[in-house]
Amino acid sequence: MPSSRLPRWSVRTRILAAILAVTALSMAGAGFTAYLVQRDRVMHEIDDRLLSRVEAVRVVVSGSPATDVSGTEGSAPAPSSHATTREALEAVFSRVLPGRNESSLGVIDGKPALVSAIDVDAHLEEDPALVDRIVAEVSDGTVRLGTSVGPLGSLRYVATPVNIEGDPQQGLYIAAFDIDAELKDSISAFSTYAIVAAGGLVAVGLVGWLVAGRLLRPLRDLRDAASRISATDLTKRIPVQGNDDLSGLTSTVNTMLDRIDGAVSAQKQLLNDVRHELKTPITIVRGQLEVANPEDPDDMRQAIAIAIDELDRMSALVDEIESLADSQQSLLNRSPIDIRDFTEQVFAKASTDGNHKWNLAEFAEVACLIDSARITQAWLQLADNAGKYAPPGSPISLGSRITDGQLLEFWVADQGPGIPKDMEDRIFDRFGRVGAQRGVRGSGLGLPIVAAIAKAHGGRVALQSSPVGSRFAIEIPLQEANG
Ligand code: ADP
Repeated sequence: MPSSRLPRWSVRTRILAAILAVTALSMAGAGFTAYLVQRDRVMHEIDDRLLSRVEAVRVVVSGSPATDVSGTEGSAPAPSSHATTREALEAVFSRVLPGRNESSLGVIDGKPALVSAIDVDAHLEEDPALVDRIVAEVSDGTVRLGTSVGPLGSLRYVATPVNIEGDPQQGLYIAAFDIDAELKDSISAFSTYAIVAAGGLVAVGLVGWLVAGRLLRPLRDLRDAASRISATDLTKRIPVQGNDDLSGLTSTVNTMLDRIDGAVSAQKQLLNDVRHELKTPITIVRGQLEVANPEDPDDMRQAIAIAIDELDRMSALVDEIESLADSQQSLLNRSPIDIRDFTEQVFAKASTDGNHKWNLAEFAEVACLIDSARITQAWLQLADNAGKYAPPGSPISLGSRITDGQLLEFWVADQGPGIPKDMEDRIFDRFGRVGAQRGVRGSGLGLPIVAAIAKAHGGRVALQSSPVGSRFAIEIPLQEANG
């Protein structure tokens, strides 16, 4: 499978990787944006300062402020107090002093002619190509703002022509700022931010690793516990800690294990019971066949009759096991049933047993939602038991009623031997029978089937018993059929 070749990252690692990736991206984005904003501000400041130099130069040269620095045609030189271009430039250099990270150069007829008296970082005259380029740019007499990257580094410059009427010499004043030096503060701030952000990222990673580990611990416990639980030992449960989604999941898994455990135990119990119940008929059949004399037809006839009888019993047992399994599935097919008619029908079926005096004692006059086939099966089972265990000729009553306005009862009362107190619960277990006392054949599955059908309807089987008779009642919550 292709997925098995992929690296197997734990959930903890994946959570952490996602947190770190998002945090790192956000931090880098925030830092980079802040740096761009700061850089933009510095560049604007540089431009403002360069334009103020143009202003200052014009003031020094002519005494008239000019604001046209957009690269359009410059205004005609105003009358100046200076006689020559060189003199005007010298006046500029003596009055307009470069600031930090700033250089200036005076150019006359395309050649560097004046430099600032104070020490500057970059000497523009050392980059003749740059000077030539700027001279060419302002040949049309305009003021120019520009950027250059060359041997002197990244420079933002402004060039403004300085011309004196009557002097044929073409003067030019260039002021330039070292962009890298101007951005140094921003870059250093950004570097500090990067170091702090990296520290923050490490802190987020550590905290994230611990928190993710803590939160996922119940999952690990769940996995460990699940791997310890095997089909042969379903008794272990996972300790539930805290009160959150994961503890909820743990409880759900525990409940599921309870159910599986219950189902597996019930299956084992059923198998044991069935094995135990089948042992007797198998032993009888085998014993009969072993001792029968094949030469004696009477002996053989008797052995075969007993064998067939026992095999019938086994077959009935198998049918009842199937019926019990169906009843326990609690899948009901409820429909509105008129209980009076229903009672009469069941009574008619039960009273075909001519060994007793059957009596229809009462009926509930109501229409209810019940699975009539299942209730019939259960009710007839009670009637059948009464018929089996009560002495022949004794009366058996049967009826339906509503108790407390909430319960619907289908009952059968006989005058048989009753059930010993200590057996009252036991007879509802599979194969639970009251010993040899009765001398009546049975599988011990009848009452469990009745109980399962009552339970599927949300009810139970109630038993009142004494040595002079028993009353079994299927009690289910009253669910009236509307309309
Ligand atoms: P089975 O009748 O096949 O033995 P049941 O589950 O129907 O199995 O009944 C379980 C036991 O309960 C019976 O063996 C019998 O001893 C006792 N029992 C059931 N109904 C009656 C009854 N009406 N009177 C006396 N004992 C009864």
